Amino acid sequence: MTKVKFNLLSAGYCEANRSHALRKSSSKTIKFYATYAHIEHPVFGHILFDSGYASRFYEATKNYPFKIYAKITKVFIDEKDEAKNILKKKGIHPSDIKFIIISHFHADHIAGLRDFPNAEFICSNVAYQDVKNRKGISALKRGFVPSLMPDDFESRTKFLSFDDATKEVDYLGKTIDLFKDESILICQLEGHAKGQIGALLNTDKKTFLISDAAWLKQNYIDLHLPNPIVRLFFDSWSNFKTSLYKVHNYHKAHPETQIIPCHCEETLKELTYSK
Ligand SMILES: [Zn+2]
Repeated sequence: MTKVKFNLLSAGYCEANRSHALRKSSSKTIKFYATYAHIEHPVFGHILFDSGYASRFYEATKNYPFKIYAKITKVFIDEKDEAKNILKKKGIHPSDIKFIIISHFHADHIAGLRDFPNAEFICSNVAYQDVKNRKGISALKRGFVPSLMPDDFESRTKFLSFDDATKEVDYLGKTIDLFKDESILICQLEGHAKGQIGALLNTDKKTFLISDAAWLKQNYIDLHLPNPIVRLFFDSWSNFKTSLYKVHNYHKAHPETQIIPCHCEETLKELTYSK
């Protein structure tokens, strides 16, 4: 089993209401950080899981209908905080990134993709088929902003199908062993967005990147559901609940595993301070 190193970083944030993320909680504006993971594999090199926001989001959402997106979610991203610039500061050039795993195609996960010219993309085929031909309102309804996608996306992408999944993991079902060395196992976390995937990393303390299967740690620890109003933006509420239970049960069985919801400020801060 090959070990990988992992670092949680963030590129911008949007404002959200705590009462939407946790039903029946008090109304309070909170920050939804757009986190992404930098993973170092001893053979395959630098890998990202998602990319966070990039300032091209503003340009991409300037005109109708995508300006509705920018209006609904107030986004804050400074060029200096973009993934490519934060990584450069760590001595990693954008062209050093070899792979980017895309959990799903919402703008806060893909806005930085164009900044990594050598990266091979990895995503669920189901997720891509669901968005690829959408334009205008139809794309907007999926939280998908087509102009954020690299022009050569299809020729640079490995499309995953869970028909080929080989490794069974308790509570998570069939997973894809990405590099055939058990360093990164990809699992299905349907519901929030069609074909959403998560990644179980073989780090020192195991790490489970769950993307938006939960927004805050309270969602998966206490099974505290979001406000039903967010169903409007989800692909399937019942699949979302199934995925949340998967993560909850996995957490109970493996309390030592660090679980990373993409937008949880508390989780981001815990990881940043523990270094
Ligand atoms: Zn999302």
